[in-house]
Amino acid sequence: MTAQEERLDRTLRPTRARDDRFHDECGVFGVYHHPEAAHLTYLGLHGLQHRGQESAGIVSSSGDRLHEEKGMGHVARIFRKTMLRRLKGDLAIGHVRYSTAGASSVENAQPFLIDSCKGEIAVAHNGNLVNAQAIRMALERDGSIFRTGSDTEVILHLIARSKKDDLEAAIVEALKQVEGAYSLIFIARDRIIGVRDPRGFRPLSLGRLGDAHILSSESCAFDLIDAALVRDIEPGEMVVIGEAGVKSYRPFPPQPVSQCIFEYVYFSRPDSQVFGRSVHEVRKRLGRNLAKEQPVEADIVVPVPDSGMYAALGYARESKIPFALGLVRNHYVGRTFIEPKQAIRHFGVKVKLNPVKEVVAGKRVVLVDDSIVRGTTSKKIVRMLREAGAREVHVRVSSPPTVASCYYGIDTPTRRELIAATQTQDEIRDFIGADSLGYLSPEGMLEAFGRPQQATCTACFTGIYPVEVEEEEREKEHALDAS
Ligand code: SF4
Repeated sequence: MTAQEERLDRTLRPTRARDDRFHDECGVFGVYHHPEAAHLTYLGLHGLQHRGQESAGIVSSSGDRLHEEKGMGHVARIFRKTMLRRLKGDLAIGHVRYSTAGASSVENAQPFLIDSCKGEIAVAHNGNLVNAQAIRMALERDGSIFRTGSDTEVILHLIARSKKDDLEAAIVEALKQVEGAYSLIFIARDRIIGVRDPRGFRPLSLGRLGDAHILSSESCAFDLIDAALVRDIEPGEMVVIGEAGVKSYRPFPPQPVSQCIFEYVYFSRPDSQVFGRSVHEVRKRLGRNLAKEQPVEADIVVPVPDSGMYAALGYARESKIPFALGLVRNHYVGRTFIEPKQAIRHFGVKVKLNPVKEVVAGKRVVLVDDSIVRGTTSKKIVRMLREAGAREVHVRVSSPPTVASCYYGIDTPTRRELIAATQTQDEIRDFIGADSLGYLSPEGMLEAFGRPQQATCTACFTGIYPVEVEEEEREKEHALDAS
C-alpha cells in the first residue's frame, strides 16, 4: 500500500459501528424562500436528530453570499441564537451526521461549503459513495488538495473541475462519475437543488410551507415546522428550486431501484412516510408477519424499546398475546458514561434499559427486537429479564439474520462481528441464552414492505450488493475480518 493509499484508508473507509447496533447515517434538510430559513432548518434538524448525533451544520444564503455555522454534538447543543442570527437569508440547508466515512471531527461536519468558478456552493449528503477512494486518488494525483476525509468532498471537487458553465450541468456531470448512495441537497446563492441517486438507496422528500419549498430526509421533520409532505424525490431525479418554482429533471440513465429496507426495520422514525409508505405501518406488518411465521406459547409480548415497539405491537395483535411494556429505556443517557471502579453487571445495557419486575416476573415473555447485530446486547437483555423473574424468554426478530456489512451509508460492524455471519441460529440462541429464537424470513420482510426484491436493497441480509463495491473496499473488510 502506498503512503497515499494508507492515508486514504484511514480517512475514507466507512467507519464500522462500535456498539451493538446498525447506525443511522445522516439527515439532510433544506428550505427555499422563507424569511426564517435558517431557523426552520435548525428545527428540521431536530426532527432528523435520530439520523446522526455526532455533528450538525447549516449553510444559508442571503443572496449575495453564503453563511456557515457548524459544530460537534447534538443540534440543541451546537446552535445558539447568535449563530442563527448570523445565518442570514431566506434559503438554507442543513445536515446531521453520524460519520459513515471520515473521522469524527468538525472538519468533516457538513454542509461543505466551497467557493469555485461556479460561485459559492455548499452540499449536504446522506449516503456513501462506493468509488470515492479511486476518484479521490486520481484527483490527488492530478493536483487536487482535499480538506476533509469525507467522500462527499469528492463530489465538490468534480463539480469545481467541470468545464460546464452551468451549475446544474456540472452537478450532473460530477454525479455521473460517482457510484453508490446519495441523497443530496445543494445550495447556491439563489437556489437549492435536491438529487437522489438512480437506485434511490436513501430517502428524500419534498414539502411545502406556504410559499416556501422544503426538502428533508424524512417527513417527520415537515410535521415539526407545520409543512405538508408533497411527494418523494424519485430515484434518479434532480429538482432545482428557485425563482421559477420546482423544476424536475431526469438526467441519469435509469437503473433498477434499490431502496434500503433497513430504513423501515430500524433507521427511520415511525412517524415518517418513507419511500411512499408509513414507517409505523410497515413496522407493524413486520411484527404481524413475524407472529405468523414464528409463533410461540407465551403470556406477554415485550418490545425492546424504542426500536422494537411497533413490531411488538404487530406481533401482539396477530398472536393475541397481550402487549406489555416490560422494559424501560432511559432517554437521557449520552453515548459514553464513566463506569464505577466496582464493576456492575451488564452496566452498559442497564444504564439504558431496565426491566419492570412487576410486569415480567413469573411470565413467559416474547421479546421483540428489530435486529440482532453482535448479539451482546440481546444476551444482556435476556439475562436481565430472567433476573427480573421472567419464566421463559423467547426472542423474536422482525428482520432476517444480518450477515453482511453495508457500504451505502450505514454504519455497521465488520462482517466477522455480525453474529449471524458466523453462527447458526441454534448457536445464536444459546449465546444469547433465550429459550427460543425466531427471525422473520426475507419473504415476510418484503411482503411487509410491499415491494419486490428487485426494487429493494437487502444486501445486509443476503450479501448480494446491488451496486458493485470497489474491490479495495471488500479486500479491506476481509483484512479486518482476518485481523
Ligand atoms: Fe440498507 Fe442493508 Fe442495503 Fe445498507 S446493505 S442499504 S443497510 S438494506
